[in-house]
Amino acid sequence: MKFSQELVQTAGRYESPFFLVDRGNVRQQYEKVLASIPGLDVFYAVKANPHPKVLRALAELGCGFEVSSCRELELALEAKASPERIVSYNPVKAPAFLAQAHQAGMRTFAFDSAAELDKLASMAPGSKVVARLVVSNTGSEWPLCGKYGMDAGTTLKLLRRAARLGLQPFGLTFHVGSQCLNKDNWVDALFLCRQVWDQARKKGMQLDLLSLGGGLPVYHGKKVPTTEEIGAAIDGAIRELFPGNRPRLAIEPGRALVGEAAVLVTTVIGRASRGCEEWLYLDAGIFNAIFEASQGIRYQAVTERKGPRRPFTLAGPSCDSVDTICQDVMLPSPRVGDRVYLMNVGAYTLSYASHFNGFPPPPVFFLDEG
Ligand SMILES: *Cc1c(COP(=O)(O)O)cnc(C)c1O
Repeated sequence: MKFSQELVQTAGRYESPFFLVDRGNVRQQYEKVLASIPGLDVFYAVKANPHPKVLRALAELGCGFEVSSCRELELALEAKASPERIVSYNPVKAPAFLAQAHQAGMRTFAFDSAAELDKLASMAPGSKVVARLVVSNTGSEWPLCGKYGMDAGTTLKLLRRAARLGLQPFGLTFHVGSQCLNKDNWVDALFLCRQVWDQARKKGMQLDLLSLGGGLPVYHGKKVPTTEEIGAAIDGAIRELFPGNRPRLAIEPGRALVGEAAVLVTTVIGRASRGCEEWLYLDAGIFNAIFEASQGIRYQAVTERKGPRRPFTLAGPSCDSVDTICQDVMLPSPRVGDRVYLMNVGAYTLSYASHFNGFPPPPVFFLDEG
């Protein structure tokens, strides 16, 4: 989303702090991802931003959903997604969720362990199963290494086990790490997929689906590869690796569909000089609004004030020093009462938010509702 006079004007109608969301931006990003690779099917990772109005906007365009919990499944169904358009690529699912997912009609699930296959065979018999491979997360600002994924050997062994258990070995998936700035991660992952694909065929299993995971990045002030560039790299690799037998292709973006669709409007509630640092305290922070800032995601901050800029440390309103948003933010000397706009905060913000210290998650308003 761009900072504009129109944005300031709309924001002026509401009391700080709050999120302002533009569903037009979500729709645009969806169309962009959809067009980035021929034949691509898109499943939105609901955890990035589960607001019902966001899900509804995506469902209306035909977008599918990737869910991990009973609540996310309910939200996807309430958004009018049909169960065949809902998948779960969390490799370790809670049994209660799996039971509800199967009952609701979901049929496609990821796995990366024998225990998960046993669970699937008993609670979601006959399902299509997608093996999660471990791949490089180099160059991702929010790596997801270690917790999930199998090597090629384990994958083949468990795909055969899946078949023996009456499940349908359906495809392969991976996650290159969230906010991934390195196109090669996808290309390298596809090389690995091709090897496993061939070995599976030798064992009599013809796989069908390659799901490309998430990871498409959002703009936070420094250049990131575009969806088009990443799509072209992936499509090039697919053409080279699968000539004449292009797999069914899917992708599960979370961040990229919603990240640029929201601004967090905050107000300066305090200012202090501490040593050589100038601190600005805002009325929303790490715990109730922008958790990822505590782990290195740098949101762009903008004010309406003009003039020479100097570095500030931005902090949230709670008493915990973890509630420090960002250092060395260049701003034109804001005063108490000024508004500070944190840009591109649509992903992994409200879905992470807590009520710590009595500061509730800010409400959400829609720019496109006027
Ligand atoms: C979270 C998640 C995604 C979305 O990741 P982004 O980096 O937000 O695009 C996709 N697939 C799976 C399995 C996930 O857990």
